Amino acid sequence: MQESPANAKFKPYTRLSIRQAPQWQHLSLEHRQAIDIVARVLPFRVNAYVLDQLIEWDRIPDDPIYRLTFPHRDMLPDSEFFDLHRLVSNGAPEAQIDQLVRNIRMRMNPHPAGQMTHNVPTLDGVALRGLQHKYRETVLFFPGAGQTCHAYCTFCFRWPQFVGMEELKFDAKESQELCAYLRRHTETTDLLVTGGDPLVMNARSLAEYLDPVLAPDLAHVQSIRIGTKSVAYWPQRFVTDKDADELLRLFERVVAAGRNLALMAHYSHPRELQQPIAQQALRRIIATGATVRIQAPLIRHVNEDPACWSELWTTGVRLGATPYYMFVERDTGPSSYFKLPLVKAYEVFQQAYRSVSGLARTVRGPSMSAFPGKVMVDGIVELGGDKLFALQFLQARNPLWVRRPFYAKFDARASWLDELRPAFGERFFFEQGLQADLPDIIQPVAFHRSTREPPSAADRHPC
Ligand code: SF4
Repeated sequence: MQESPANAKFKPYTRLSIRQAPQWQHLSLEHRQAIDIVARVLPFRVNAYVLDQLIEWDRIPDDPIYRLTFPHRDMLPDSEFFDLHRLVSNGAPEAQIDQLVRNIRMRMNPHPAGQMTHNVPTLDGVALRGLQHKYRETVLFFPGAGQTCHAYCTFCFRWPQFVGMEELKFDAKESQELCAYLRRHTETTDLLVTGGDPLVMNARSLAEYLDPVLAPDLAHVQSIRIGTKSVAYWPQRFVTDKDADELLRLFERVVAAGRNLALMAHYSHPRELQQPIAQQALRRIIATGATVRIQAPLIRHVNEDPACWSELWTTGVRLGATPYYMFVERDTGPSSYFKLPLVKAYEVFQQAYRSVSGLARTVRGPSMSAFPGKVMVDGIVELGGDKLFALQFLQARNPLWVRRPFYAKFDARASWLDELRPAFGERFFFEQGLQADLPDIIQPVAFHRSTREPPSAADRHPC
C-alpha cells in the first residue's frame, strides 16, 4: 500500500534495489533488462515519491517522468548495449564488465580534462577545491555533503560524479576557504551553492556552510542561490522531513541578514508542481522570504511539448515562483537520446512564451550554457536573402559581451554553439581580440570551435 506523500519517509531505489519496488511488476522483461544494462553505465536513483506520485505507470515507457528518471535501452548505441549485455549474461568477470563500462563512459564526453581546471579560483596561489568562478559577480560553491540528489535525471551533466568517477568530483569540506576567497573578491555579489543537490544535506550541515557567509564583512555577497531539484523529487524536504522547519528557519536567517535567498528550482515538467505537497513546499519556502526561480533544460521525450512549459510557468507564477531559464541540453551522457536541434528549441520556447501572460515572460531561452557564456537563440531572421540565427549572450566570461547581438548561418541540424558558423566573417566576435578586456579574476582562454569545450560546473546541470 502506498504511503500518503505527507507521511512518506525518504526511500531511494537503485539498480539493485529497484526490483523490490511494487512498480517493478509493471515493467516488461525488455524494460527490466534495459534498466539492468544501461544503469551499469549511467547513474540510476529514484525514490518512492517519484515512483508513487510522479510517474503514471499506465503510460510507460512514454511517461515523461519515467523517461526523466529511468534508464532506457536507446540511451546506448546497439553495439555497446549488446556487448555489455553479452558480458553480463555470460557471467563475465566483474573487472571485464567494469572495463567496458568505463570505456563507454569515457566515450560519453565526461569532460575529463578541462572541467576540473577551468574557472577554478586560487587563494595565495593554491587552487580551491569545490569552488568555481566563471562570471565576475558569481562564485559557485560545491559543499562536499551535497553532491548527490534525491533522484537522478538520466540526462544530467553531473553523471560522472554520481557513478563514482572520483577524478571528476567537485566538493568542498567546509566554508573557511570560501569565505576567505569571498572576502578578497568584493566584486562577488552572488554565491551559488550547488551540487548534486545541496538540499540533500540536513539543515545543520547546510547552516554550517551558510552561516559564516552572513558575516557583516561579507555583506557584498548580496544573493545566495541554492540550486535544487528537491522541490520536485522530494518536496517533503520542506514540509514533513524531521528538520524541515529547521531548514526554513535557516532560510529566514539568511533573509533577516539582509541577503536575497533564491532557490534555483529545477522543474522539468508541470506534473512536478501538480502534487499538493509540492505546492505546499513552494508556499512554505516563499513564506520565509526566499524567492524561487524555475529553470530546466529542454529534453526530448520529457518536455518537448510547448504546452508543458506554459503550464509549468503559469503554475509557477500562480504559486509565487518566477520562470527563469529554458536551457538547451548539452552534449554529454546519452545526449543523442535527449537532444533537440536549436531550431526546434527556439520553436518550443516561442510557442510557450507566446501563450503565457507577461508575468511568466520573465523566462529566458532557449539558452546554451557554453564555454564563453550563456548564449540565447533570440530569433531566426532573414538578412540579405540569407536565413540566420540571431544570438546574444545573456551571461559571459567577458561582461562586455553581454547583450551584444551576433548572427550565425541557419543550420537546421545544429544543436549547439560549436556547430554554428558565423554569418559574417570567419569567426564570431568573441573568438578574437576581446580577451584584453577580461577582468583579472577571469583567466583568458581561447575558444576552439573544433572541440567541445568544458563548460563550468554550473553550466553542466540545472540544479
Ligand atoms: S539535473 Fe540536478 S537533480 Fe537531476 S541528477 Fe543532475 S544534479 Fe541531480
